[in-house]
Amino acid sequence: MGEVAEAAMGEQAQGSGTVRTRERPTGRSVAGAVPQAAAGQPGGIPAARHAAPEEGGVPSNAAVPRDAAGGQAVPTVSPAQAALAALGGKEHEWPRPTSCRVMTIANQKGGVGKTTTAVNLAAALAQHGSRVLVLDLDPQGNASTALDVEHHAGVPSIYDVLVDDRPLAEVVRPAGDMPGLFCAPATIDLAGAEIELVPVVARELRLARALRAFDMSHLDYVFVDCPPSLGLLTVNSLVAAEEVLLPIQCEYYALEGVQQLLNTAELVRVNFNPGLHVSTVLLTMYDGRTRLASDVADDVRAHFGASVLRTIIPRSVRVSEAPSRGQSVITYDPTSSGAVAYMEAARELAMQSAGTQ
Ligand code: ADP
Ligand code: MG
Repeated sequence: MGEVAEAAMGEQAQGSGTVRTRERPTGRSVAGAVPQAAAGQPGGIPAARHAAPEEGGVPSNAAVPRDAAGGQAVPTVSPAQAALAALGGKEHEWPRPTSCRVMTIANQKGGVGKTTTAVNLAAALAQHGSRVLVLDLDPQGNASTALDVEHHAGVPSIYDVLVDDRPLAEVVRPAGDMPGLFCAPATIDLAGAEIELVPVVARELRLARALRAFDMSHLDYVFVDCPPSLGLLTVNSLVAAEEVLLPIQCEYYALEGVQQLLNTAELVRVNFNPGLHVSTVLLTMYDGRTRLASDVADDVRAHFGASVLRTIIPRSVRVSEAPSRGQSVITYDPTSSGAVAYMEAARELAMQSAGTQ
């Protein structure tokens, strides 16, 4: 493993740091939101984050409203705009990290809120000026569904990247109509990847290599939505990321399951990725009516200390309804308790990026 581990040392994803000082022109929602895909180039993140669409000859994305910067009337109200309006207008943009934070959202238990967290944090951050890519690493493709990205068999997907060396840029798609939000979808093919990768050389490093070859300079966050297992897909995500974001459901046995993930993360850290650390823990599906939930929350805080976000995500019907509309809860029902909580949790992440927490 030494040789592979050595190779992996060079595969480190860029870490988090202090807040970026890049200037952001007004009207960024127009300028920065046009993905190459919208211009007929499949996938890819636009190279010129701040260039006006006109400058690069890139037609504006029909889904992106032209606001004051474009000087034209807004033809329709997008879910993203409606969400902001419901929250009382355009909030300030949040701080963005100096370099892209690659975070894997992992917990081998199913149904703890990994996908929900990936999608909603990503949407909230995108809504506040960040550019976020969600890598769907779960063959079920739930994140792709929630982000309204096609993922039927045959669609270029993360499977092609991991198994066939297809460049990541070729599978990245804009997500729904949220400017700044992108997704590399998962198709059902990915179910075979765990087995197909077994004989492959450096099989644990496939995602890390794909990300290394991908231009992340125009992104602020990459969230990897893991499957509910500790197989090769999750290991690939742990090798590729610098941070683990661990969602923990406020239920009995929550911490026991987490220990297995922590053991795996430690193995990956030692053998492949010395910078890997659990930077963020998020308590999910909290039911304030039960004593158990609050006991679990206390235990988790005692165990993980300051890495636990102050915000706790409550159980909220709206959160579970949103994916069926191909939306995050942030746009589906922005004033619901789930949306407000995910928004607040995302703000905490952004403040981490600014080094203010
Ligand atoms: P995982 O990705 O860990 O398997 P999901 O994010 O898919 O978990 O969540 C599992 C189920 O619970 C989904 O149906 C989701 O809609 C629902 N869910 C997640 N978070 C909440 C919440 N805060 N309130 C209500 N339902 C939730
Ligand atoms: Mg999931």
